[in-house]
Order: sequence, then C-alpha cells, then structure tokens
Amino acid sequence: MKHVIIGAGVAGITAARTIKEQDREAEVVVIGDELFLPYKRYLLSEFLSNSIKRDELLFFSIGMLKELGIKLRKGEHVKTIEPLKKLIKLHHNEVMHYDKLLIATGGSPSLGLVLRPYKKHISFYSSLYDTLVLKEKLPEIRKCIVFGNGVSCLDLICMLRNLGKQVTYITKEEQATFALNEYDFEGELHTFLEEKGIEIITEDQIVLIEESDNGYKVETIQQKMLTTDIVFAWDYYKPNIACIEDSAIEKKTGILVNVRLETSEKDIYAAGDCVEIYHPCLKNYWINFGLPNALEQGKIAGKNMLGQNEEYKIQEAIVFNLMGKSLKARWWK
Ligand SMILES: Cc1cc2nc3c(=O)[nH]c(=O)nc-3n(C[C@H](O)[C@H](O)[C@H](O)COP(=O)(O)OP(=O)(O)OC[C@H]3O[C@@H](n4cnc5c(N)ncnc54)[C@H](O)[C@@H]3O)c2cc1C
Repeated sequence: MKHVIIGAGVAGITAARTIKEQDREAEVVVIGDELFLPYKRYLLSEFLSNSIKRDELLFFSIGMLKELGIKLRKGEHVKTIEPLKKLIKLHHNEVMHYDKLLIATGGSPSLGLVLRPYKKHISFYSSLYDTLVLKEKLPEIRKCIVFGNGVSCLDLICMLRNLGKQVTYITKEEQATFALNEYDFEGELHTFLEEKGIEIITEDQIVLIEESDNGYKVETIQQKMLTTDIVFAWDYYKPNIACIEDSAIEKKTGILVNVRLETSEKDIYAAGDCVEIYHPCLKNYWINFGLPNALEQGKIAGKNMLGQNEEYKIQEAIVFNLMGKSLKARWWK
C-alpha cells in the first residue's frame, strides 16, 4: 500500500511516523517543497535568538528517517491532484500514484490589496528560510515595524524586542489584542507590551512602503511617516491549497474534512493548518491553526489511512510563551 503525504510539516511528518510505526511494510513518501529536513516551526524564535542550535529544530535526522523507512522528497512541489486516477503531479510534471493520500500543506501569511504592491519590501516570518535570511540581517537591524495579527505576530514582536530591537507595532484595532485564552490578561496586553518598550500605533495601517537610503519609509492611513530598517507585514494566514484547485475536493477557505479527516474524495485525507473542520459549538467550519491540532490530526489521519476509525476532537488552545509569561492562546477564532 503506497501512502503519499503532501507537506513535510508537523501534520505530515506525524502522519508518516504513525503509519510506519503501525505498519512497517507500508510504503510512505513525504513530499515537501521546503529545502530542509522537517523542522519545528514553533521553535524558530528560539533558534533566531540562539537559545537552541539549528539541529534542535529538526524532527528527524536523515538517519532516523532511514530507520523509520520514510522516503522524503524535499524541495519538491505538488502541482495537481487527480482523485479519479489516484495520482498527483509534481512541479516538474513527474506523475506519482497513491493508494492513500494525505494533504498536509499548512498555511502561509498573505497580503491584502493595499500591501500587495509592496511585497518586495516586506519580510515574512513563517519558515526556516525566512529565519535564516533574518538571522543574517539581524546585526544591521535596529528599528523594525510589524503590522499584522494573530499569535505569530505577537511571537515576532516579542522576539525582536527580546533581541533589543526598537519595535513599532501597527494595528487596525483600538488596542493591541491577540486571541488569548486568558481573557483578563488580553485586556492588559496592550499595557504589558508598552511596558516592555514596544511602541504601538493603533487604528492605523500601512498604505505605502518605499525604499530609502538606509532602510524604508512607511506611510500610514493616519499620515504618519515612519522610517525603519525592516518591515514585517501580513493581513491574514491562508491555507496552502493551490494543488487542489483543479480537483473536485471540496473546500471553503481550507480543505473541508469530516471528523475522520476524510475529504470529499475517496482515499484522500487532509490534516493541519490547511483544513477546515466542523466545530460543534461554533456550528460552522473553522480552521484550527496551531501545533497541538496539527500533531493530533497528523496522528489520526495516519491511523485512518491504515484503515482504523479514529475521530478528531477539537484542540482549542495552544500554549504560548510571551516574554517568559506562559499563556494559552487561540491561534484562530
Ligand atoms: C514563527 C511561528 C511560531 C509559531 N509558534 C507556535 C506556537 O508557539 N504554538 C503553536 O501551537 N503553534 C505555533 N505556530 C504555528 C504552527 O507552527 C503551525 O500551526 C503548524 O506548523 C502547522 O502544521 P502543518 O503541518 O499543518 O503545516 P506546516 O508546518 O506549515 O507544514 C506544511 C508544509 O507543507 C509545505 N507545502 C505547502 N504546499 C505544498 C505543496 N503543494 N507541495 C509540497 N509541499 C507543500 C509547506 O512548505 C510546509 O513545509 C507557529 C508558527 C510560526 C510561523
């Protein structure tokens, strides 16, 4: 039985491991478009601030992958899926057959209409590649502007401040608010960040970014003119589902799955940040971003690909370390 997994992130690699641990004979191929061995995205800040070494980011060494018998095709992008023929097409038009397929392609930061023209001036912080580039630039960076939302934005702001950088955070909201589970603290977060030395500009957004002699000039809707060495910005996180566009696999913002993580197409499963699953309390589909969710879904998808019948239960909160303060956060509301 050939199990093909698209995406070498937490969900994909957990599924691969689960399958091989339960069935040594199964053929497992993981296709990931990043150039690195599978790594722990949630530890990127620790790596950037030199709290851990690069090796410690990895889920597996090459030796461990071999031992487990997982075939990793890194640096390979899956272009299309053809469920009726049970095959996928890679970027260089290689065709690969599968018996069971898992889509675990995660999500990426995206820009709205206003920021899109300035993409080349904007830095992201969501992959090891972004982190390596940033690590190179860090010594020359003094001032940073961050515009965005979500807990990954909070992670970035705090990491930069911890590294002694001057940080300006721009938010459309009246206050710096992030989706935390500690509702009391959520109200105090704005003051907490200001006390840590982070400048916060509220009810505003970036409308123009221009390169200048020694960095960037940034203009906001409230006509503030700012200068900075680097601009981080994103409007939202979006599931990476381009590879299903031409298929009949049902989707909304993400790939729709049932509690067994099956998609609308036979023998195709999906897990992690790329899926939307029904939330019984919200009475709607939602994307349950975050590490605990991706881990759990990876495990369940792996078992179900082997013919078991496991159901996923919503993992509500993620644990988040905010400048030494341990908090529970919701990745997505
Ligand atoms: C800086 C940062 C800090 C974070 N901190 C935390 C935290 O403290 N706690 C927490 O719970 N969560 C945290 N997260 C979120 C967490 O890392 C994600 O929720 C988790 O990685 C999702 O796992 P995934 O396997 O679904 O997707 P990903 O880890 O994103 O992996 C998906 C992989 O698939 C690849 N891919 C996409 N499309 C294709 C294709 N067509 N072909 C081949 N490969 C493809 C992608 O390049 C990627 O490598 C953090 C995220 C970031 C960016």
